Amino acid sequence: MLRDAYKAERKRDEWDLLGIDREQLDDLLDHLEERLADGGCDHTLRHYRAWAGSRPVAWPELEAGLLTSGAGCDCEVLSNVDPDEKV
Ligand SMILES: [Zn+2]
Repeated sequence: MLRDAYKAERKRDEWDLLGIDREQLDDLLDHLEERLADGGCDHTLRHYRAWAGSRPVAWPELEAGLLTSGAGCDCEVLSNVDPDEKV
């Protein structure tokens, strides 16, 4: 019982952990989709960093959060981060 509550709580906290809200996340995923459609992924977080660098987001925290969820480059952010799964 306690464990379930803890798990639900953790799920809700995931985006808090990343330091961005749902709208920013959608924006980021749109940005990555566009950039990757253009030139593909070079297996860095280059496009993500360009996005984060121009916005008031706590991007070191966000980047650490992404790495924790297994997203080590732009295409992995797109494939591993599903906003609908986490809200
Ligand atoms: Zn990649």
